[in-house]
Amino acid sequence: MSKHCSCGGAMKLMLRTVIFAKKVNINNVPVYNCSDCGRNDVFPGVKEDVGKLVGQLGAAPIARSISFDEVHEWAGVLSQAMIRSEPLQETMIARAAEERINELLDLLLLATSVGDDAWKAEIEGRLSQLSAQYII
Ligand SMILES: [Zn+2]
Repeated sequence: MSKHCSCGGAMKLMLRTVIFAKKVNINNVPVYNCSDCGRNDVFPGVKEDVGKLVGQLGAAPIARSISFDEVHEWAGVLSQAMIRSEPLQETMIARAAEERINELLDLLLLATSVGDDAWKAEIEGRLSQLSAQYII
C-alpha cells in the first residue's frame, strides 16, 4: 500500500480530511501522502466518487462535515483497518474487506428473503464499491 512520489520519496496510503471550497470538510478520504514533499494524491479507486460527491455539493456549498468512510465502503474498510493497524497494513485491509463483504452478503440474504428490492439494490451498490476496480 505504498507508491513512489515524483520527488523520489515513498508515498503512504492514509486517510485524510479534504477541504472543499474552504467550507466542506470531507473526512477519511483515502490518499497517498509523501512525507518528503507533502504531496497528496487521492487514492485512484475512489477519485471518481470523491469527484461525484464534490459535484453534488455544487459551487457554493454550505459549511459542513462529511464522513467519506460512511459514503464509500472502501474508505470504510480502510478506516476499520486503520483502527487495528497504524500505519495501514495490507493484511489488515484484506481482513477488514473480507469481514465487510461477509457482513454485506448476510444483509443481502436477509433483504432477499424479505423481498425488499430497494434495500437489496442499496446493498448491491455497497458491495460493488468493494470490487477490484476500487481496491487496485
Ligand atoms: Zn514527494
